[in-house]
Amino acid sequence: MDKPTHINCLRFLVTEDHDFQRATMIRMLEGLGAQTVYAAADGRAALGILQDPSRPVDIIISDIEMPSMDGMEFVRHLAETGSRISIILVSALEPALLDSVATMSEVYGINLLGVVEKPLTPAKLLPLLGSYMPPAEPRPGNRTSGLTFTPDDVVQGMQNNEFEPFFQPKIDLATGQIKGAEALARWRHAKLGIVTPYAFIKPLEDNGLINELTWIILEKAAVLCQNWRATGVDATVSVNLSAKSLGDVTIADRATQIVCDQGVKPSHFVLEVTESAAATQDGNALETLARLRMKGFGLSIDDYGTGYSSMQQLSRIAFTELKIDQSFVIDAAKHESSRVILESSLEMARKLHITSVAEGIETEADFELLRQLRCDLAQGYFIARPMERTDYLKWARDYRAHETVAKV
Ligand code: C2E
Ligand code: CA
Ligand code: CA
Repeated sequence: MDKPTHINCLRFLVTEDHDFQRATMIRMLEGLGAQTVYAAADGRAALGILQDPSRPVDIIISDIEMPSMDGMEFVRHLAETGSRISIILVSALEPALLDSVATMSEVYGINLLGVVEKPLTPAKLLPLLGSYMPPAEPRPGNRTSGLTFTPDDVVQGMQNNEFEPFFQPKIDLATGQIKGAEALARWRHAKLGIVTPYAFIKPLEDNGLINELTWIILEKAAVLCQNWRATGVDATVSVNLSAKSLGDVTIADRATQIVCDQGVKPSHFVLEVTESAAATQDGNALETLARLRMKGFGLSIDDYGTGYSSMQQLSRIAFTELKIDQSFVIDAAKHESSRVILESSLEMARKLHITSVAEGIETEADFELLRQLRCDLAQGYFIARPMERTDYLKWARDYRAHETVAKV
């Protein structure tokens, strides 16, 4: 087996209470070319090493069952320090329990390379080391995390026409065809570059201004949709609708007007509402959803699996699409627990006779799994990231050209 060339540059910390196993792991790493390997007999000793600036560590390989501080407590303390070090957990626990430890680590925000069953072998270790990436530096053009804006800032940006949708394709898993694209709001900020939605959706929602953004995104999405249609492309555009908008019974008419003004029809659009909004008991919201559907808009249940709704609640509204939340899709091929949720969500979509979409497909393994589970549509970085309009159109043209070549 080839050794990744970078192993000799990486600094390891092995945390294992069992002397013989610890020595074996250290020997294995050294055999693979590692030059720097620190060792600790439990989580507490490991934290001591990590606090020592003279002993920097890139990857921790830790046992889960250890006396005094076990691997789970160790992960929690690591998360509390905001550490971005990568970690590989090793254990003799049963696979289902390893899955829940992996989920816990991810929820804690730990950079987990993987969880492996004992004994650790080079064959298990090397693919995980191959997936190691140094902690990312914040990118200057995309400095959006932690940013908050006042509603006035955002309104000013909207008046300056600085908001636009980026587009991310949705692909038919059975045929590979492009079936549509989701429009995702972006702020082309004069000083900060491209700002992503988490920084501006909430101030708009909290101040009753979110509809203004919806209209901008819908109108620009309608322009793109009209361009597609003019060239014979039969695909839909999905637009996100805030839960806060649903109480306004006038929005269905306004949305219809906006798309018709661009020469396209409501049936060329899918409006996405989160599962928690979809399970609403509010009369106005139910009226809005029914009217949108009556006008011909497709309706999607977004982030499905996070809102604890019942099939009975969801079947009251004529939804056309079920969009499974990315938390169940990312790495599903590695987690039995995610697969169970995927299977039951897909079964529910089939029972309701609605289209199923998996978002957050980042790897070929997850793409293949969703195809085998007969999910209808796929969306995610594995296919393409959200792109500005011109890049999207170019991407779609190239994709279709390859598709045609592949079929000939
Ligand atoms: P969402 O509707 O769940 O959109 C999917 C998010 O997942 C997008 O983030 C998208 O860029 C990201 N994503 C797509 N593929 C992958 C993948 O393979 N892996 C991972 N990790 N992420 C992936 P984005 O664009 O930052 O949008 C975040 C949220 O902001 C959206 O979540 C949606 O709730 C909201 N949003 C976006 N545009 C609008 C809008 O026009 N109106 C409203 N009300 N909300 C919007
Ligand atoms: Ca969405
Ligand atoms: Ca989602």
